[in-house]
Amino acid sequence: MTQRLLVVEDSKPIATVIKQIAQSLNYEVVLATTLAQVEEILSGDTNFFAATVDYALPDAPDGEAIACVLSHGIQSVVMTGKMDDETRQKILAQPVIDYIPKENSQAFLYLKRVLHWQQTNSSNAILVVDDSSSARNHIVELLKRRNFTVFTANNGVQALEKLQQHKTIKMVITDLEMPEMDGIVLTNEIRKKYSREQLAVVGISGASNGIHSARFIKNGADDFLRKPFCPEEFYCRITQNIESLNNIAQIQHAANTDYLTDLSNRRAFFRHANQRISEYGKREIPHCLAVLDIDYFKKVNDVYGHDVGDQVLKVLALYMRKHFGAGLNARLGGEEFAMLLHGVDNDQLYNKLDDFRREIAVSAFPAGETQISITVSIGVVFDSKEELSKQMNEADNALFLAKEHGRNQIVIAGADDHD
Ligand code: GH3
Ligand code: MG
Ligand code: MG
Ligand code: MG
Repeated sequence: MTQRLLVVEDSKPIATVIKQIAQSLNYEVVLATTLAQVEEILSGDTNFFAATVDYALPDAPDGEAIACVLSHGIQSVVMTGKMDDETRQKILAQPVIDYIPKENSQAFLYLKRVLHWQQTNSSNAILVVDDSSSARNHIVELLKRRNFTVFTANNGVQALEKLQQHKTIKMVITDLEMPEMDGIVLTNEIRKKYSREQLAVVGISGASNGIHSARFIKNGADDFLRKPFCPEEFYCRITQNIESLNNIAQIQHAANTDYLTDLSNRRAFFRHANQRISEYGKREIPHCLAVLDIDYFKKVNDVYGHDVGDQVLKVLALYMRKHFGAGLNARLGGEEFAMLLHGVDNDQLYNKLDDFRREIAVSAFPAGETQISITVSIGVVFDSKEELSKQMNEADNALFLAKEHGRNQIVIAGADDHD
């Protein structure tokens, strides 16, 4: 569903810039140039995801439009030409997402980030830990304005439980002094289980003494806020830490993922397969390692072009997800893939692989205007106790035999033909 943005702005050039920014983020823009227009629009329709509100309009020179938009429950970013302390205080006394001084081009880059965060912050869950309900509620309210998903806890013990329950939590904002378990001990406990790449910790304390920030940082916190803090400081700290976590996650994803098919790449496959194989071995779970290669794939490229070849690889990856979603699927390189599967017994696993092979053989793959069919050959090794690289060799040898014996078939390592 497209999200609608109400843009309240009397300057045409600025409205145009905001509109372009919003559209680049897939917002649908509705423009109002006066307070009277705002009132008219909102009397009929208040279904807006957010608004940008110019502080001064011809018929509302002193921020009157802000209260009007907020009163309809629409989250608002205030755009202002003035940046004196009185104006700032007046704006911040209201529950706005943020205010942006229209001083330079930086303002619009920042607006773009704010509007983007509004769309994405709900996927960032934050746990607020404080024994004082008023302090907790204040932080929760600030976070909710920015669309973060928020959980709360009254002390460190509860916080650890909440972290256990909600794996999506990316950040903990914690008070220092609390009964049962204080913020320092909590931070310490968190770092025994969660790395800085998984979870950010921001400490908060009212004490004026710098020793508390030092203790938080030395115990593994990423950042520190001293009470009382202004909303600008708060949002700056929170968004910086969240952005840095998201950047790390993106880098990790890119490093472990095949760009074309979005499956794991060879490196990620080896790392995860090693862990899983040792677990399957310990718990005696039937499993298999399969290596798959598309038959005569060079011909597909030669006849239909490289783009069609790429498309075939992508679609094949979708079929792999469909058949082996619970397993570990990877593109090892070129037109060669690997799967690590577990199941109830080897027959079931073999049948799964063969169902997949047969569906591929009868499926139509898009090739520009027409469709083509392909087949795959598979080498598989069952319940091997060997180390992964040896297993891969065995599966590779079986794959080689599958090719030799005519392709479009599965060969089990160390067995005679199964077909
Ligand atoms: P076989 O049945 O023996 O496996 O024959 P084949 O043609 O599939 O095997 P061969 O190893 O000779 O050729 C593999 C081809 O895969 C060659 C290469 O052009 C193509 N290929 C490798 N990576 C990619 C890719 O990322 N995109 C596309 N379109 N083609 C790729
Ligand atoms: Mg104006
Ligand atoms: Mg091939
Ligand atoms: Mg090959």
